[in-house]
Amino acid sequence: SSASHLREGLVIAHLGQGLAVEDTSGETILCQTKRRVGLVTVGDRVLWERCDGNMGRVVEILPRRSVLTRPGHNEAVRLVAANLDRVFVVVAPEPEPDWLLVDQYLAACEHRQLGADIIFNKVDLLASRDIAEHLLADYRRIGYACFLISVRTGEGLSALRKELIGQCSMLAGQSGVGKSSLTNALLPDKQLLTQTLSEKTGLGRHTTTTATLYHLPDGGDLIDSPGVSIFGLAEMSTRDLAAGFREFQPWIPRCRFGDCKHINDKGCAVREAAETGALPYARYQRYLKLIEKLPPSQRTY
Ligand code: GDP
Ligand code: ZN
Repeated sequence: SSASHLREGLVIAHLGQGLAVEDTSGETILCQTKRRVGLVTVGDRVLWERCDGNMGRVVEILPRRSVLTRPGHNEAVRLVAANLDRVFVVVAPEPEPDWLLVDQYLAACEHRQLGADIIFNKVDLLASRDIAEHLLADYRRIGYACFLISVRTGEGLSALRKELIGQCSMLAGQSGVGKSSLTNALLPDKQLLTQTLSEKTGLGRHTTTTATLYHLPDGGDLIDSPGVSIFGLAEMSTRDLAAGFREFQPWIPRCRFGDCKHINDKGCAVREAAETGALPYARYQRYLKLIEKLPPSQRTY
């Protein structure tokens, strides 16, 4: 077919039987993919053409800004989203924050060159915001934005909505911190959108989707991937992990040896900086713990 038949679209959901592609006109079409196109994922910008009936066919994936994968052996399942700009790591007073997990997420984002920031939800449970500020002090110090919110009371939500405009975001974090509550608060029409999507594509409501891209009412997109534990240390080496700690970067060139792992190495500027308080010591300790979590095959430099 000639190139004039091709239209640009955005993949908003990956359904078992195909892809939901939103055309630039706003129409949503169920598309199959030509085998040679490769693996298409939510957030992909694609070229597609109409085939029989209401169906379409993706013929090309347009260049990606970013790719988010999760650990796993099956490539199709590993690919979570494309063209994501920013991940918000959500924590809360309850369940108690797992800062090792937070640092693992942040390092994985740095590694994939995704923006990352922190949302502290359920501030309504705190006697004072100072408690959250105290816990977040190291993160603010090294340049992560921290948003204090309560989905329950609505505190901080309008500031967060403004922050989401003009980019594609995703929420991550341990179970119970309020990710689905926040998603529902940001997307009041979510249920309706999901229903419309299944009607438009002619698929049942129970079709499993890995992730769905929603347009936020005030602007910006949110990729919702419920129940998907997206971040691992898969494919990260010791060097990648050190590169994932943004506050280490000015110190790394001052280490005596170029292959310094920043553990017990002689003349390690990172370790010295952490010990003198020039770097947050707790973060450095968690770096050491994360290295131990790397599979031995990845403990390379
Ligand atoms: P998820 O597992 O991260 O998706 O968390 P959920 O959205 O399922 O929320 C877990 C629990 O926290 C639910 O019982 C929510 O009602 C509750 N929750 C969510 N946001 C808030 C909040 O701002 N304040 C309080 N007190 N509870 C909240
Ligand atoms: Zn070092």
